Amino acid sequence: MKVLVLGAGVVGVTTAYELLRDGHEVVVLERESAPAQGASHANAGLIVPGDALAWGFPERLRSLPKVWLGLEQAMRIGFPGPHLISWGLRFLKECTTEAWHRNTLIRHRLSHYSQTVMSEMLAESGVEYDRVPGGVLSIFRDPRSLEHGNRLRDILREAGQSFELLDAMQLVKREPAFANTRTTLAGAILCPTDESGDCHGFTQNLAQICQERGATFQFGVTARYFISDGDHVAKVATDHGEFTADAFVLCLGCWSPQLAGSLGETLSIYPVKGLSLTLPIESGHQPPTLSCSDQNAHITCSRFGDRLRVSSLAAFVGFNTKHRPRQFGYILKGIRELFPHGADYERPKYWAGLRPMTPDSTPILGRGRHHNLLFNTGHGSLGWTMACGSARITADLLLRQPPGTDLSGLGPR
Ligand SMILES: Cc1cc2nc3c(=O)[nH]c(=O)nc-3n(C[C@H](O)[C@H](O)[C@H](O)COP(=O)(O)OP(=O)(O)OC[C@H]3O[C@@H](n4cnc5c(N)ncnc54)[C@H](O)[C@@H]3O)c2cc1C
Repeated sequence: MKVLVLGAGVVGVTTAYELLRDGHEVVVLERESAPAQGASHANAGLIVPGDALAWGFPERLRSLPKVWLGLEQAMRIGFPGPHLISWGLRFLKECTTEAWHRNTLIRHRLSHYSQTVMSEMLAESGVEYDRVPGGVLSIFRDPRSLEHGNRLRDILREAGQSFELLDAMQLVKREPAFANTRTTLAGAILCPTDESGDCHGFTQNLAQICQERGATFQFGVTARYFISDGDHVAKVATDHGEFTADAFVLCLGCWSPQLAGSLGETLSIYPVKGLSLTLPIESGHQPPTLSCSDQNAHITCSRFGDRLRVSSLAAFVGFNTKHRPRQFGYILKGIRELFPHGADYERPKYWAGLRPMTPDSTPILGRGRHHNLLFNTGHGSLGWTMACGSARITADLLLRQPPGTDLSGLGPR
């Protein structure tokens, strides 16, 4: 079957890989000149089933007034236009304890499955991406937040996820880079099966492998709308003419709703802006080996070889990736406190990207009203974690064979 994949982020490229494994002819359309130029470009790099907690929960509602008043550094809401209002109303419905439980378990199930698919993909393809296995640390600066964070993870424990609770001394033993920390730390929760790696490197290298296996990547091509005939998508119109295929997979991240809209399908995906900075590591620096997420300073940090990636922020400001160095001030301050000699803090490389976030924090997988169009989009804050599993599921659905995990709650909605 000839399959056209729209988008060459981590989701589109992993999809192309799985489709090739099934023997399909694969064409990938991407408007940029290379893979992974959208959200997959410089994300935090965490692969974290152990941090699959959904974004909507009752406490989020209580924190909203502070966010509106601009008192939360790591979360911002811009002037709400119609897109944000309609998304936001749906999000508010997901802020109950019951919905949080449901959405967290869906996220965890898919993330866990994705890790299994990813390890098969690594063994089979040999793709390289500065992988760091061995766990990810959630660190807490005060005992109350440690206790709260530990309690929140009970739901994941019940789903079979294992965690280790570490006090401050045990934390330093596990990650010696914390010995120099200039802030108080109450302790950490280690999820030993979580890991990290460079999503951009992975996506680029996997795209190369796909091309060697016969996939065609058409860069610099912007998809404009689908052309359908009843419940059959016939072609996609682009700025470089029309492309036909037997089946189509929509992997355009935040930009998926526009294309789906040309078929009358509504996908509720909002672009939630995040920031990252990448710092060079040189001899004499003392960076951490394990990735960590500071639950009080709201920053995450991962090491990719000789680079340290630090990330933060959830800003609801539309399709806006503009950024200024001073917006990264609190991120630099937080990481310097944790690892004063962790990297060269004078030479940061700044980046902003857009998470394709659904109101319930879970992606949209499967068919809508058109039998030969599959959605694989809306992975929000965990697209790197969930990409490989979502790709395999999409390939299975195309062949109409049962996927390797339960899809409840993941269909178009
Ligand atoms: C700051 C930040 C930190 C993050 N940290 C993590 C993390 O630690 N762990 C994790 O699991 N996830 C993380 N994420 C989320 C993750 O990066 C995303 O969920 C994931 O990259 C989404 O991948 P995608 O392929 O769906 O989208 P994208 O990577 O955005 O890819 C979509 C592609 O479609 C292309 N495109 C768009 N419109 C068109 C068109 N009309 N025609 C042709 N091409 C088009 C774009 O150019 C782009 O290449 C983070 C995100 C951000 C922003």
